[in-house]
Amino acid sequence: MNILVTGGAGYIGSHTVRELVNKKHRVVVLDNLSKGHEAAVKGAQLVRGDTAGRELLKSLFREHDIEAVMHFAASSLVGESVRLPSWYYHNNLVKGLLLLDAMVESGVRYLVFSSTAAVYGEPREIPIPENHPAAPTNTYGATKLALEGAMRWYGEAYGLRSASLRYFNAAGADPAGDIGEDHDPETHLIPLVLKVAMGHLPYLEVFGTDYPTPDGTCIRDYIHVNDLADAHVLAMEALASGASSAVYNLGNGNGYSVLRVIRAAEEVVGKPIPVHYGARRPGDPAMLVAGSKKIKAGLGWQPRFTDLRAIIETAWRWHRSHPRGY
Ligand code: UDP
Repeated sequence: MNILVTGGAGYIGSHTVRELVNKKHRVVVLDNLSKGHEAAVKGAQLVRGDTAGRELLKSLFREHDIEAVMHFAASSLVGESVRLPSWYYHNNLVKGLLLLDAMVESGVRYLVFSSTAAVYGEPREIPIPENHPAAPTNTYGATKLALEGAMRWYGEAYGLRSASLRYFNAAGADPAGDIGEDHDPETHLIPLVLKVAMGHLPYLEVFGTDYPTPDGTCIRDYIHVNDLADAHVLAMEALASGASSAVYNLGNGNGYSVLRVIRAAEEVVGKPIPVHYGARRPGDPAMLVAGSKKIKAGLGWQPRFTDLRAIIETAWRWHRSHPRGY
């Protein structure tokens, strides 16, 4: 298929582009490079711009005969989203709506959307099923949920078919070692732990030790970025073969506390990681673990990286070979 990938120069986008190219799809990446990296786009054409450019979108759709869009481009930092709601609503929701409008006008019918577990807020049930109430506790989750809602109604009215993939904690890097996670600033646990291991940071600050979890630190479900990429391709191929619109969780279904992640990283890097114990980070739920039965049953998705250490190993390979990123 001919596919436009917005945000394809970013972390999850670039891994998905590689998977699409491996599966012989033709890919055009649209990325404004505000966070993404040109060097992360391999095997696809990169167009610099964003989804606010309606004429640009329409000409890309026409010129490349685009059949489906994968939409990754967004701002995605929880803490920042709470401080800057206007930016998040404009960047994630308004620009997302402009993309949907351009798709409808150009007759592009399939959309795979990068959503998030942050749509659920504080879970009432673990593992979290897709029909769990969505009550985001931060602007980031609220903007993603709002665009999911628009996609549903655009589906009813205009026939747009979509899959929203609600990821839990994306982690790891392509085992090839040439693409990986490179955020500035970096805020995510695993890359920060590995930066401590490389001596770029003196210690890892553990955000909160008084959560109602066995060791007092937050529990998350870490899912390998290549498993996320697989799911995007499966979801797109399913839409193109007639599947209805759907929302899917993507996680391993196993929860690991911050301290367990640090232990696993210590085993991978073969040395101790110094830590400081700090306060809770605002907006962090105690525990987020995915129920991913729906995508396993519906699309035959199966994560290949189920072991946390194996996930961290791939991240370590990337960070060691690219100590300063791209
Ligand atoms: N975390 C931490 N110290 C850090 C960064 C993250 O203790 O320097 C914790 C954070 O509170 C959360 C978990 O690690 O419980 C995963 O955080 P991350 O930012 O990687 O992903 P999120 O869960 O926010 O999507």
